[in-house]
Formats: sequence, C-alpha cells, structure tokens
Amino acid sequence: MKAYREFHRRSIEKREEFWAEQAQLVDWHRPFGKVLDYSRPPFARWFVGGQTNLCHNALDRHLATRGGQKALIYISTETGEEKTYTFRELHAEVNRCAGMIRSLGAGVGDRVLIYMPMIPEAVFAMLACARIGAIHSVVFGGFASHSLATRIDDARPKLMITADGGMRAGRAIPYQSMFNEAIRLAKSPPEKVVIFNRGLDPNLKLAAGRDIDYAALRAGHLEDRVPVAWLESNEPSYILYTSGTTGRPKGAQRDTGGYAVALAASLKHIYCGEPGETMFTTSDIGWVVGHSYIVYGPLIRGMTTILYEGLPIRPDAGIWWKIVYDNKVSVMFSSPTAARVLKKQDPAFLRKYDVSSLKHLFLAGEPLDEPTHRWFAEQLGRPVIDHYWQTESGWPILSSVPGVERTPVKFGSPSFPVFGYDLRLLREADAAEAAPNEKAVVAILPPLPPGCMTTVWGDDERFVSTYFKSFQGKLAYSTFDWGIRDEEGYHFILGRTDDVINVAGHRLGTREIEEAVQAHPNIAEVAVVGVADHLKGQMPLAFAVVKDAARIATLEQRAVEEKSVLETVDRMLGAIARPSRVHFVTLLPKTRSGKLLRRSIQALAEGRDPGDLTTIEDPAALEQIRSAVKPL
Ligand code: AMP
Repeated sequence: MKAYREFHRRSIEKREEFWAEQAQLVDWHRPFGKVLDYSRPPFARWFVGGQTNLCHNALDRHLATRGGQKALIYISTETGEEKTYTFRELHAEVNRCAGMIRSLGAGVGDRVLIYMPMIPEAVFAMLACARIGAIHSVVFGGFASHSLATRIDDARPKLMITADGGMRAGRAIPYQSMFNEAIRLAKSPPEKVVIFNRGLDPNLKLAAGRDIDYAALRAGHLEDRVPVAWLESNEPSYILYTSGTTGRPKGAQRDTGGYAVALAASLKHIYCGEPGETMFTTSDIGWVVGHSYIVYGPLIRGMTTILYEGLPIRPDAGIWWKIVYDNKVSVMFSSPTAARVLKKQDPAFLRKYDVSSLKHLFLAGEPLDEPTHRWFAEQLGRPVIDHYWQTESGWPILSSVPGVERTPVKFGSPSFPVFGYDLRLLREADAAEAAPNEKAVVAILPPLPPGCMTTVWGDDERFVSTYFKSFQGKLAYSTFDWGIRDEEGYHFILGRTDDVINVAGHRLGTREIEEAVQAHPNIAEVAVVGVADHLKGQMPLAFAVVKDAARIATLEQRAVEEKSVLETVDRMLGAIARPSRVHFVTLLPKTRSGKLLRRSIQALAEGRDPGDLTTIEDPAALEQIRSAVKPL
C-alpha cells in the first residue's frame, strides 16, 4: 500500500501543492492566486481568484480534439428511445437551452429548479445553467408536491424546467398535478415553468402566462451561441437538497472550481476513466451520484456518458450488461440495491454478454453486504469496488484508489480514505481517536477537500451547527455514520448515527416522513423508523396513534385507514418515502421528558433487544410495538 499511502499523505501534508497539481486537470480562464483560503474555519475556499466554468470544462474545451466523439448516449427501455449526441451536438443543444433560460430572465446567481425525468433535456438544462452561471437545483422526479414545494421555498427559483412526466416499469407518471400543487403550496413560486412534452400525459394543460412549451421555445433559439460566464472558483454551481434529522431538507451548496478539480481527479485516480472511454452510471440526475458521475465528471474528463432511463431487469436482467457490451463501457457505477436485485435473477444474465471492457464496477450509496459483494464480483468476473460518500462530499470519501495503486479488495469494505480527506474515527463521548476495530463516528478534520459542500444554501450558521458541532473541543466534520477500521486500515461502515434512513441508496429523513403521515386528518402522533430490508437495505415503518379510534374499530377499517395514510405520504413526498406498514397503537414509547425512543422502537421492529429503558415513561407502549410487529 506504499504508493496509495504516499499519495494520501501528500494530499494532507502538502495540501496546497497537491491540489495545485490536480487543478491542472481542468481549464482556467484566469489562474487562481491562492490554492486554499482557510482563514474562516470551517469554511474552505479553494482556488481563490481563479475563473472557470463547469460547462466550458465539460464541453467547449473538448470541441477541438473530440467534437465528433459521442458525449451523451441516451437509452430508455421505458419508451424504447435511443439517442446519441456528440460533443459538438451536445454543445449546440446546451447553447440553445442556455439561450432559452436567458430569454426568461435568469442569469448569474439566479436559481433554476430542474424537476425532470431521465431525458437528455435534463442534462441540457443542467449544463445550460452552468454555462450562464445560474445555480441549478435538481429535484428528483420521484419526489411529490410537498417535497418539491419545500425545495422551491428554500431555493426561490426564478424558473422551473420540467416535463409532462416520467416513466417507470412501463407506466407513465404525469408530473403536472405534482408541480401544480407544489406551486400552489409554495410561498415564492417560480414565475415561469418550461415544460418538455414527451407525449406521456394526454391531459397536459399549460397554465396561461406561466407555462411555456420547451420545443416551441427552443425553436426560437436554434442558432444561439451563448458565451460562457466565467465564475470565480468559489461561486456556487448548484444546490442539492438532502435529508437530515429535521423535517426541513438542507441545500448542499457546491462551488465551481473545487468541484471541477475534484471530479477530474476522481475520474483519473479512483475510477481510472480515460478520455474517449465510456462511463455508465445507473443513478438518477436527481441524486448527487447523477450530478457528479452521469453529468459533470465523465464529460469533464472527455468521456462519453450513458443516461439510462429504466429498470435493471427490463426487458430482462441482462439489459445493463448488454449496454456495457454494446458501448464498450470501461467504468460502471451502480448501487448495492441494484446488485441485490440482480442477485435474485438468473446469474446466466450476468454472463450472457462479454463485459471484458469493464475495468471496474463501483458501488455506493448504502452499505454493501459482504455476501452480495463477493457474489457479484465472482459472477461478473470483474473487480467490484465498494466506495463510500455522501451528498455533502460530492465525490468519494472512502475508496480504493486503483489509479494510484491496486490494493486488494476486502468484501464488505469501502477500503481507505481518499486523497484530500483527513478522515478519523472519533469516539462519540470524548472525541478521542478510536482503536482498531472499535466502533466510532466517521469524521473528517477540516478543511474539507475541494468538491465538498461549501455551506448550507443561505444558512452558514446551519452548516456549522449541523456538521461541525458533534465533538466536544474538536472542530471536526461529522458524516453521521458509524464505522470501524481494522488492523490493516480497511474501513467498514456500520450505519447512521442519526435518524436518517437509507432506502435503496436514497436518503430519507424520518422526521420528514413523520410530518407527511401526520398530515393525514386522523393521525395524532407517529413514529417512523428504518427497519432492515433484505432488498432495499432499509424500509420506513410507521407506528401511529389515531385521533378517532372509532374509524379503525374493525380490521377492514384499519386496512382502509392504513391505505389512506400511505396515499397521503405518496402525495406529499412520493412513493419512495412510503412506509412498508402503518401499525396503529394507542401510545408511543417516550422518555419522561417526551422524547421518542426511536432506537428502541427500531430495535424491537428488527427483533433485537430494545436496550436501556430506564427513562421510559410507560413500558406498556413497548408492548404495543412488540405485538404490532410480531409475525402472525
Ligand atoms: P446520500 O447523501 O444520499 O448519498 O447518502 C449518504 C449516506 O449513504 C452515507 O452517509 C451513508 O450512510 C450511506 N452510504 C453511502 N455509501 C455507502 C457505502 N459504500 N457503504 C455504506 N454506507 C454508505
């Protein structure tokens, strides 16, 4: 591990020298003066004074050398569409879209909300915002009205770009009712909504004076050439909302120069992607993985990127491997849930296509269990690398770094701290460093490296109080994950320290789900916990106290009420946040001071020991949980 260790050591001990070198991987319109300004801890400002642009680095700078190379390959197994854009063609579309956005009055620093399915226009819109210096806030298409409204109110976008709908498993999911309701709920709604009509919603109606048809607008901007807005490296590029312990999602704000450099460096050293090769990331543009490794990362590196709309098992479980084979994919990135889904299918599909072009398959987003890791690597016959990171970091925190050194994979472990991260395992009680194999909190000593979130959008104070106040007497960033390090330096992630749950790699706050359940007229009180699920990692499970018990007197009535509660969650947050069950109880386990005993509820729901219960107000509440989850 000599080469890896030396690389990492230099990234921490000779931080500025190291990152100045990595910064050469991207274009600068004006060179930076100072590599790092850390005069106001924990805020880090990277490449101070330098001017650059994400869209320029993703597109313009490749035109001379690879204008005719494929930049974006779009494959939808939902609609059957396939489209390819060369760097030149993508550049032209992005210029058109930039012209459209500009014509609607958005420019440097204005927010543009993108609520889109996995279609090329979503990528055009993101890159177009980056081109003109507008700050995009992409909201996952699976989120519903309430989630969208809270994000609108926090980001206050000038403009929303959306579509008539998404598709999942062959079924169209119209967006109109969701964005109309969100706009109705929002206190500061966008003035204009651009809608890309895919022909999925026959009932689509444009709101006069507000809605604009994407294709009609585009027709007026076909020849637009929009100059790149050169931004100081620390100007924000985007906001991406993520769930925490409160009901209010946080807008992770990303800079421009640091992000470009971190992505370029990660593509080179971690993913081993070379310019001209093809990357296939199976995530969604609504998540951080989609931002970094469907859109910006591969394009900045001069790679072709694949945008895939569809499931891993339709038309059959060989579809992803067919895509790898057809496009000679060299780098693939997916999730443990997808691996577990594929593990349940006939393994012959994994061997049906020649996938020898794949250098590595990377997995992230949730814990990867050892049996799945082992099985997948064996069946695929290619190296499968678990790596760990978060919306906040924007790029990997723990990973093996095969571009620097090929270190052996330990199944179930995301290996070692990535360059730039001064990662420590700190004890919760006294912030001291943990011994090998001792469970502790995964922390990072600031300054955080380039590419990480720079603040919470509009709320510096919340950034500091949320992330840097976990350890008494020590300024350290908390990931809110438990972890251990073994004697050989391999790390293992053991789950969250807070009330955030992870469903199929998607992070959800239990508070947010509780608020949605409580919006149902008959719910007085509710506790939502994450419970282990063999496929999705975790699933939310709700225990609710009703206002009017007469409405759930019979079994049939209970079933009807449960369904109606679940529909409320679907409508407000989206089906992704829907609890697997709502159990009705008459009282919830709380401490005498009224705090919900979530960890005990979760333990009971998973059939474990509920732990220390000396503070409980009424032990009968636990009995109710126990009998509610008891298998029949
Ligand atoms: P998100 O911000 O939605 O990407 O979720 C980040 C969280 O997902 C982390 O804080 C971890 O709890 C979890 N996570 C991500 N990658 C891994 C991994 N490789 N192993 C274990 N947990 C992971």
